[in-house]
Amino acid sequence: MDVSRKTINELLSGYDKKKLKIATICSHTALQIFHGARQEGIKTIGLCTEKRKKVYEAFPLGCPDEFIIVDDLRNIPADELADQNAILIPHGSLVEYTGDKLNSLRVPMLGNRESLMWEKDRVKMFKWLTEAGIQVPATIDPDKIDRPCVVKHAGAKGGRGYRVVSTPEEFHEHFEGMDVTVQEYLIGVRAYPHYFYSPLTKDGYRAGEGRVELTGIDRRFESNIDEAYRTEKAGLSFTPSFTVVGNELLVLRESLLEDVMEMGKNIVETADKLFGGVPGPFCLETVVDENLQFFAFEISARIVAGTNIYPQGSPYTAYQWEEPMSMGRRIAREIKLAAKAGKMSKIIY
Ligand code: ATP
Repeated sequence: MDVSRKTINELLSGYDKKKLKIATICSHTALQIFHGARQEGIKTIGLCTEKRKKVYEAFPLGCPDEFIIVDDLRNIPADELADQNAILIPHGSLVEYTGDKLNSLRVPMLGNRESLMWEKDRVKMFKWLTEAGIQVPATIDPDKIDRPCVVKHAGAKGGRGYRVVSTPEEFHEHFEGMDVTVQEYLIGVRAYPHYFYSPLTKDGYRAGEGRVELTGIDRRFESNIDEAYRTEKAGLSFTPSFTVVGNELLVLRESLLEDVMEMGKNIVETADKLFGGVPGPFCLETVVDENLQFFAFEISARIVAGTNIYPQGSPYTAYQWEEPMSMGRRIAREIKLAAKAGKMSKIIY
């Protein structure tokens, strides 16, 4: 059964605010989350398999203070975390592993867990984007494919198994009977801006009842499409694929920042209207075309792996904070601020 906001608020009211901990699964952005919490003086718990523990121990400053060893990362020991005053930080792996069980986890989680249900369901996600006034690629009926399209599987799979098709025949050959979405292929430069929405902070770029911050921008390296020029130069033909392998930093021309900030603000205010808000980190996946128009094809309503590029701050946090500010540290800072102001329920559900 889904856990209610009331239950989470009751759990939070029993927490010892001086002994808060930050917990997450050891994967995705965990090093950065633990590192940031450590910088802010908050203790951490890593949910980890025995096999993976040594990987985290190899990075002492990104290693959790304490491990809870589990056999299967799909099983989150929610009660044990709640007993330890822990706030769970949802990241891409946690969302993917936990699936529909996420809503029933009886442990306070950073952000609004409703927003994770909106990012997961492509119909809802596109409603969120379009109501925010953001341009999106056309979704196309498989039998009406008349241009290059990307075919996407359901869920956050890091682009795995995606393929470009240009005709209904090609679609049926590869995807017959599968749960997929067909989206117009966007031509341009990919730019994935990362944001942090703080309902608790009243200065800066106003959005909703607080402010939206741009923490950084990345672009992904996807195999094999992002090395296509080499493959072609080597005289080989290949079928493009989009499996995410890593990320690189991107800085946009400064005149585009106005659009980037407005998109963030509109996403925040539309989330307020549709499902009670998106406090904390979120990201848009966009393509900027030759007319400098942004088209967004995805929202992540949580920390994204692209933020791993800047554990010591980004070209955008440098103008907002005196100290190096990663997304992990920003999360810990907000939790401290909320605990001090008695407003944890504003940023946690
Ligand atoms: P994640 O949840 O990890 O972001 P995902 O499985 O939901 O991954 P997407 O982010 O939707 O996958 O897409 C994976 C990649 O495919 C993108 O980073 C981009 O390079 C490419 N892609 C997706 N949609 C489009 C599009 N409409 N036009 C062009 N390229 C696209």
